[in-house]
Amino acid sequence: MSEKITAILMDGKKTAAKIKEEIKVQVAQLIDDHDEAPHLAAILVGDDPASQTYVSSKEKAAHGVGIISSVYRYPEDTTETELLAAIDFLNEDETVDGFIVQLPLPEQINVDHVIARINPDKDVDGFHPMNMGKMVLGQPGFVSATPAGIVELLKRYKIETEGKHVVVLGRSNIVGSPVSILLAQKTSMGNATVTLCHSKTQNLAEITRTADILICAIGQPQFVKAGMIKAGAVVIDVGIHRIPAKNEQGYRIVGDVDFNEVSFKAGYITPVPGGVGPMTIAMLLKSTLEAHLRKHKS
Ligand code: NDP
Repeated sequence: MSEKITAILMDGKKTAAKIKEEIKVQVAQLIDDHDEAPHLAAILVGDDPASQTYVSSKEKAAHGVGIISSVYRYPEDTTETELLAAIDFLNEDETVDGFIVQLPLPEQINVDHVIARINPDKDVDGFHPMNMGKMVLGQPGFVSATPAGIVELLKRYKIETEGKHVVVLGRSNIVGSPVSILLAQKTSMGNATVTLCHSKTQNLAEITRTADILICAIGQPQFVKAGMIKAGAVVIDVGIHRIPAKNEQGYRIVGDVDFNEVSFKAGYITPVPGGVGPMTIAMLLKSTLEAHLRKHKS
């Protein structure tokens, strides 16, 4: 692409680097004061390449800020009982402040049973029903990292949400639904009027064209075209997809938004990669630090 895009790029990589720097300072202080660093653990079941990549990025990011990280790997044919036993082990392990179970899980395992087994005080992904409930009620708890990362990115780019029309595409429990709740709340980064769209929504483009802020989390590569947005809108692209490309790797990464078109009409846009993804990881580290601090307060 030779032309320069007209939208302001919301650089998630740079913003996440700043957040990680802030976390690193706090962790270094903890080590100085108590000789103790926060500890994040991850459970990875099977050998899904995307999950492996996510877990190793989280591990690398944790090390980068001084957070201890350990990964527990289990084979694809792990039973639900075995996985629940692994969760019980981490729930009991006093040295672990927080842990995540990387999704998706193999089909023999019921994801709801798994999430419900995690000690809510260690549920740094914020997926446990208790943390979800607290988030809905606006009470302190863990908020899932992707919605938290989106809100933080809007905040750091000084994007006003109050009184704005936010349209969220996708109603998943981990992205669409929680981000729509957060932005509608009576908070400084809330007070928006939110419309939540999904696969049964009719006249989707008519709705998206009214969005001041459009958050796209539908899992459809390059679905959102320039004709679907209002000129000057803030466009947050959560999607991550590999599509075939004639390059060395044979693929390139794209989002749910057709960046080449939309970046010439939007006012602000997140790139993929380098937008919401790095923010998600930074917020996970922030939650791990929070879990550690809470443990020591109680
Ligand atoms: P899910 O597949 O769980 O949910 C997709 C949602 O989009 C559903 O609510 C579905 O509707 C809706 N949807 C699907 N197609 C359409 C359509 N044509 N029109 C309107 N709505 C539609 O997705 P996730 O929320 O888990 O993930 C979304 C994307 O974000 C994926 O690409 C994923 O890889 C990425 N992701 C990125 C993260 C990051 O850190 N950057 C973190 C998490 C996810 P319905 O409910 O009716 O089925």
